[in-house]
Amino acid sequence: MIRIGTGYDLHRLVPGRPLVIGGVAIPFGKGPDAHSDGDVVAHAVIDGMLGAACLGNIGQMFPDSDPAFKDADSMVLLAKAFDAVKKAGFALVNLDATVVLEAPKLNPHIDSIRRRLAECLAIGEDRISVKAKSNEGVGPEGRGEAISAQAAVLLESRGA
Ligand code: MG
Repeated sequence: MIRIGTGYDLHRLVPGRPLVIGGVAIPFGKGPDAHSDGDVVAHAVIDGMLGAACLGNIGQMFPDSDPAFKDADSMVLLAKAFDAVKKAGFALVNLDATVVLEAPKLNPHIDSIRRRLAECLAIGEDRISVKAKSNEGVGPEGRGEAISAQAAVLLESRGA
């Protein structure tokens, strides 16, 4: 059986925070205001896979009231969420993520992000797509006030 899920995440960008996207640290003067490292790609992918497996959402699995997740490496959270998905009997078929941000340009980092996600999920990079878009200067992302990401995640039931 094939199952699809979608995920979405947004964080405000504030000065002095590191910018981590898909597990890759990108030099920039601002980063997400978040309890964890605020990695919008990791968070959107987590919600996409939890959605596809009907396992709830990222906030239920990793509550931001829990000090254990303060400044957490979201790639570790992604690996934990994927463990839960695998335990529920699913394998990852592919994922496709879109990051929306005005700056910096993500294109030079896309391959590194895909590689990091592929390593974390132990599947080929040919099953991981990451795209970046500006928001044409409008909305919170376009004004540089926020960064967001969307992800579609396809799972396959291992039993069927
Ligand atoms: Mg988030």
